[in-house]
Amino acid sequence: MPNLIRPLVQRLKPYVPGEQPKIKGLIKLNTNENPYPPSDKVIKAIQKAVDGRLRLYPNPTSEPLREKLARLHGCKVEQIILGNGSDELLALATRAFTEPAGQVAAGKVRTNPASTIQYFVPSYSLYPVLADIHGAARNEVALNPDFSMPSVDALRRGGRWDFKASLTFVTTPNAPSGTAYQQGDLDALCQAQKGVVVLDEAYVDFAREHSLGLALKHSNVLVARTFSKAYSLCFQRVGYLVGNPELVEALNKIKDSYNVNGLGQVAALATLEDLPYYRANFQKVIATRDRLSRELTTLGFHVQPSQTNFILARPPGPPAQQWLESLRKNRILVRWFNLPEVKDWLRITIGTDREISRLLRTVKTLLKKPQ
Ligand SMILES: *Cc1c(COP(=O)(O)O)cnc(C)c1O
Repeated sequence: MPNLIRPLVQRLKPYVPGEQPKIKGLIKLNTNENPYPPSDKVIKAIQKAVDGRLRLYPNPTSEPLREKLARLHGCKVEQIILGNGSDELLALATRAFTEPAGQVAAGKVRTNPASTIQYFVPSYSLYPVLADIHGAARNEVALNPDFSMPSVDALRRGGRWDFKASLTFVTTPNAPSGTAYQQGDLDALCQAQKGVVVLDEAYVDFAREHSLGLALKHSNVLVARTFSKAYSLCFQRVGYLVGNPELVEALNKIKDSYNVNGLGQVAALATLEDLPYYRANFQKVIATRDRLSRELTTLGFHVQPSQTNFILARPPGPPAQQWLESLRKNRILVRWFNLPEVKDWLRITIGTDREISRLLRTVKTLLKKPQ
């Protein structure tokens, strides 16, 4: 039989999501889900929407949701596009702003700036996959060893950064490091880039500062937000982008007609009606995060300062991968990335206080006996 699959797809290494195992009593600290459920109002709104109306198509552009978000962020409705999770919008941005360079160039650094997708490493591991799927070249530039972002001057001196890249993704605060970047540095970077810059703010609700102002100020900048992490809504898949209406319009042209499902729209609208509930949750997560960071540091871990709902921690003693296995045997799941920049580290999602207390007890036991 002839091979029916495009060579690019045959070669493609797909994105690997964190596991979702069904193990009883498992403490799941591996995919940055919120440990607290959506508010009662959100659950009720979804339940109320489940009836004969399921036969109807949802609003194609999530209009009521865009109106509410526009009021919340002080921008125009035309500056917002909703997606099936922010992942979909990152994929749409790839397709709208970058020329595929052809399969030969996929995954290779090319000099054609119209087909270059650029990002720092380590950051969100979906970006290289999006570039590869599209057949675009990728330009990966290392963060500083402490995971801070190099200044524009340092990037110019380094000579590796492409100021003409068609699309630049910046995760801020960053994953998996948890590090927040300086607004001044981000502003300077947005100003210096000729192409589109997407500031991926999936974790911003756990941070001290946000970059919406940059999306409203620079015509080449979009901010990506999601209801998944901070708003406990991973299951429903709702995210959005804010920025220049011309860029938003380009994305609207290529999106699926009904890209955000109806119950997702209902859930996200009800979420925006109950923000105080969520803001209280952010504070709980932040308090637990700071306790976990302090206690792990006392136990000999090196913990990166985090402005997200996870921490990056370098364990003492055995290699990080062995810690992953030992914790798993104790029914605690964390994340380890087999990447040179972070292979000595564990990424630990902030759970409830009880879950984190159990994690800390297990860590203490493991430190006492040889693993
Ligand atoms: C989780 C995550 C997303 C995707 O969120 P969805 O809205 O669930 O698709 C995007 N960017 C980063 C950095 C993330 O961690």
